Order: sequence, then C-alpha cells, then structure tokens
Amino acid sequence: MIQMTFKKEIENYHWEKVQSRIQSMNPRDVEKALNSQYLRIDDVMALLSPAAESFMEEMAQLAHQITVKRFGRVINLYAPIYVSNECSSTCLYCGFSRKNRIVRKTLTVDEVIIEGKVLYEQGFRHVLLVSGESPGHVSSDYLCQISEQLKAMFSSISIEIYSMKADKYRTLIKSGIDGMTMYQETYDHKRFKEVHLGGIKKDYNFRLETPDRGGEAGFRRLNIGVLLGLSDWRTDGFFLGLHASYLLKKYWKSHVFVSFPRLRPAAGRYQPELKVEDKYLVQLLCALRIWQPDAGIVLSTRESKELRYNLIPLGITQMSAGSNTAPGGYASGYDAEGQFEVNDCSAPEEVARMIVSKGYEPVWKDWDRAFLNN
Ligand code: SF4
Repeated sequence: MIQMTFKKEIENYHWEKVQSRIQSMNPRDVEKALNSQYLRIDDVMALLSPAAESFMEEMAQLAHQITVKRFGRVINLYAPIYVSNECSSTCLYCGFSRKNRIVRKTLTVDEVIIEGKVLYEQGFRHVLLVSGESPGHVSSDYLCQISEQLKAMFSSISIEIYSMKADKYRTLIKSGIDGMTMYQETYDHKRFKEVHLGGIKKDYNFRLETPDRGGEAGFRRLNIGVLLGLSDWRTDGFFLGLHASYLLKKYWKSHVFVSFPRLRPAAGRYQPELKVEDKYLVQLLCALRIWQPDAGIVLSTRESKELRYNLIPLGITQMSAGSNTAPGGYASGYDAEGQFEVNDCSAPEEVARMIVSKGYEPVWKDWDRAFLNN
C-alpha cells in the first residue's frame, strides 16, 4: 500500500486559483523567472503565463541550452503497436470510445509478434503496446505472453493500457515490460468528468494515482501526459509539471517522461472547445523544459512533420515515427478503426534522416535489459 501519492500533493492546489495566478503574472515576473537558478512555483507560473509570450526567444534559447547540456543532441525513436481497439470506457474525444460504432479487433499474440517483426525490420528497438481499456480482451496474462516473445527483439517494451493495481504491474515487469504510460488527460476535475462518461477511466483519483502504483512496482519509465484541447493548457501544463516534479523526487530510480499531445480528429467527431495554437505548444514545451531539466519530453505523430522538426532543438528527447493507430495496421491489413488520425505520416527512415538534418542523432536503442543484471 502506497502511503503518500500525488493525490495528496495536488490537494494543496485549486484549479481556479492556479489558473488566475498564472493569468496575473507580469513581464517582470517572467524576467525574474528567466534569471533564477532555482524556480519557485511563482516563477513556473510566470513562464506559463500570457506575459511570457513576449519572451519566447529567450525561453527557446534557455530550453535549448538545458536540453543539450542534460541530454546531448539525441532523439530516441519508438513505435506504438496497437494490440486492441476494444474499450469499455466512454471518452468523448476518442475513436475507441465504447459508444462509437467502429470495427473492433484484438490481435492474437502471434499477430502482435508479426507487427513487432515489421517494426524490428524498420530498425525500432523500443515499442509501446497500446490498447483501449478492456481487461477482458487485454489481460495481464496476454500482455506477459506478448512481452516474453517480443523481448527477444526489443530492448525496451512499454505499455499504454488501462490503470492497474501495483501487483499486476509487478507481474508485467517480471515478464520484461519496463515502461508505462498513463495520461491524466486533464487535471481539471470538472472537465475530466464532462468528457469521461463511463468505464474505468471515469475514476479521476484512481487514474491520478496510477503512476504512483507504477513507480512503486518498479517501472523504469514512467510517462505522464495531458491532452491539449480539453481544458486550459496553461493550468494543465502547470499540473503536469508538478506531477513530473513529484514523480522525479519520489521514484528517483525511474525515468520520468511528459507528453502533451493536441487533440486530433477521430471517430465520434469530437470538436475541442479550446484550440491550442502552435505558439502555445512551443511555450509549454519551453516552460516544462526549463522547469524540469531531467524529464524526458515525448512528441508523437499527432503533430505535423514540419512542426515536429522545428520543435526538436527546444527540448524533445523522444519521438514516435511511422505510427499506425489501428490494431494490425503494420502487417495484417485489418479494417479496424484507428484511435485518431496520424498527422506526420513520414516513414521511420525519413524521420531519422530529418533528425540528422537538424544536427541530431536518431537513437533506436537507448537501453539494454542486461543493465539490470537479470
Ligand atoms: S481514451 Fe482510452 S479509455 Fe478513453 S475511449 Fe479511448 S481508448 Fe478508451
């Protein structure tokens, strides 16, 4: 049983108060933040504020310097394998949502391995197993069987599935899965309730404590995130950074990653009420990099090719490439629905070439199980 979780920490903050404090920051607050060696909460709020929009050049330069110093000029590449689009949850913005009438498919273990072989041939050594939230279709036993076979090809296997208890996570880790991804989607409690209407995901607190359970179980990678477009990006960005800060301190043996994808078109035709423009995505990226120099920052194919390459120097450390969001999408040619429309459809080798053209090195393998001596 975990004694203290992020749920306790977040109780010290109120969404509306944080939101209005961020809005109240002025240019002097931003200048002070940019010149501080150690950022306080007010400094972070200043970097996320409207007042910081006139300091983007300074923020970008600082974010770039911090990233190069901490991570060098490398971008780790990974690819998702969608194992199932079955989902018992109802999330208004997602193509897999239970209410959507789509072609559903769960791959057999053998079919997942075939997908893995395609990605292995393309050069990938890190894969992310993704599914909707359906323990009946994607059980821990099923995931263990997949992992036992995939680990012969991949040095790192992560999961992005439904929230589990720590003992289940321990079982997955034993089978060779070393990373977990769990986005809160939005830390705005009210908005969370409005867009998550049913299923496991409806439970805000159970989801909020999932990265704690993953850290407690011993995952080497903990990836958290928000889905931009659901609520105020500045306030969600603040809580995302706060969550990362907490995890970095508490689970110091794990690498903590943050993601902040923007909503993409999907089955169900959900229209985001709040459009997050490119310039705001850049501000959030720079602010998080300056606040959390040790956190990995992940960029998916939800963003356009042009934007992805322009963001590389500002703090990105990991990118997906050549993604297909439908089960069997790489090899089997099933007619199953994808989770969302991919924006950057470039082939993995093209992504790698573009990374090189920016003066960075694409890294397909950044970890080996042998490091753990087991
Ligand atoms: S976001 Fe996740 S839980 Fe919600 S409908 Fe999509 S796959 Fe299911």
